[in-house]
Amino acid sequence: MRNYVFAKRVNSITPSPTLAMNARAQQLASQGHAVINLSVGEPDFTTPKFIDDAAKKAIDTGLASFYTPTLGIKELRTAVANHESSIDHLQAANVAVTASAKLALYALMQILVSDGEKVVIAAPYWVSYQEQVKLAQGEFYPILPHNPDFKLTTAELEKLDFIPKVVIVNNPTNPTGAVYSATEMQSLIKWANINDAFLIVDEIYDKLVYNKTTFTSVLKLASIKNQKLIVVNGVSKAYAMTGWRIGWVLADEQIITQLGIVLDHITSNPAAVSQYAALAAVNGDNTSVNQMKQQFEKRLNATWPQLTEIPGLIFGAKPQGAFYCFMKVDPKVLERKVMKNTTELTLDILEKKQVALAAGEGFGLPGFLRLSYAKKQDQINEAIKRLKAYFSE
Ligand code: PMP
Ligand code: GLU
Repeated sequence: MRNYVFAKRVNSITPSPTLAMNARAQQLASQGHAVINLSVGEPDFTTPKFIDDAAKKAIDTGLASFYTPTLGIKELRTAVANHESSIDHLQAANVAVTASAKLALYALMQILVSDGEKVVIAAPYWVSYQEQVKLAQGEFYPILPHNPDFKLTTAELEKLDFIPKVVIVNNPTNPTGAVYSATEMQSLIKWANINDAFLIVDEIYDKLVYNKTTFTSVLKLASIKNQKLIVVNGVSKAYAMTGWRIGWVLADEQIITQLGIVLDHITSNPAAVSQYAALAAVNGDNTSVNQMKQQFEKRLNATWPQLTEIPGLIFGAKPQGAFYCFMKVDPKVLERKVMKNTTELTLDILEKKQVALAAGEGFGLPGFLRLSYAKKQDQINEAIKRLKAYFSE
């Protein structure tokens, strides 16, 4: 084997644990094992037909053949600006369309964070934020909030002995399913304003809130114009479009322009065909989004009571959004099963019971497990049966 010397910046970067577990589960399934994959966060629905049709039309009419402007086709930028109800009069110039929300966040880190600058977030957090901050050579600074749903509060931020360059809030939150109230968001916006920090709010699960929970976008609470408040969103989760790779950033025009300069050299434009599909999604009525949302709500309500009966798992508040349940493993279980951590535990569960879950370590909270309920209910029920057996052994 050759001893390649890679750039220092990638030395401490680890693979995405959610994608790794997903790949492992898919591999086992392809070998004929009856794997139930509740690891990755991905809707199990196919993209609604009217969106597929719009993409086919873009191909048939030649629109998908060519480069588009780096920041996206004007129609989509305008549609996103109009789609988001905001206290600002948002325009295309406030929107950067990117090849996924993941890339939107990556590009934001590239333009905002320099060597050693600190990026604060509440743990547990989605797996890629940390590695993206490291790739920008910034310092990732997670805070473990002292409240049952692990929400970032201004009280926690006040305890810091530095002012972060960037604060990230994910609302609704992956992996906990917690949803911030308008008041909670308002105080975080105020804190960021007073302290002159960038506040990135990742609202990718905005349409997926359940059981009468209210979601309030920060766009309804504060202006982004001439401000350091930035919103990230995309089509992956709400429209069942993970494969199309379209996300976006809403921000002040100057921030968008800077993103465009960096994206010119990374992707140029996101795939044209995906942009036309996303345009149909954003301009479409909410029927299919609401249908999928109702399904997720039903699954959450059917899954939660069964899950909380599993011995050896400890639960906080019932999730209000996204499509995850996040639970603590009683340390006695790890002792009994002679496992060092929940990463080992998830591998053992996969091997013995063919259920794939994501381990807390990647989310900055060792000792926890994440289950995605974006799967058919009969599969979830069967997985819970197997988990009950595993945790009783
Ligand atoms: N943010 C959060 C919190 C997520 O869970 C995901 C899931 N992939 C993303 C961003 C990125 O979504 P995508 O890259 O599919 O647009
Ligand atoms: N965001 C999803 C998850 O948390 C998809 C996988 C990923 O990009 O991490 O599982």
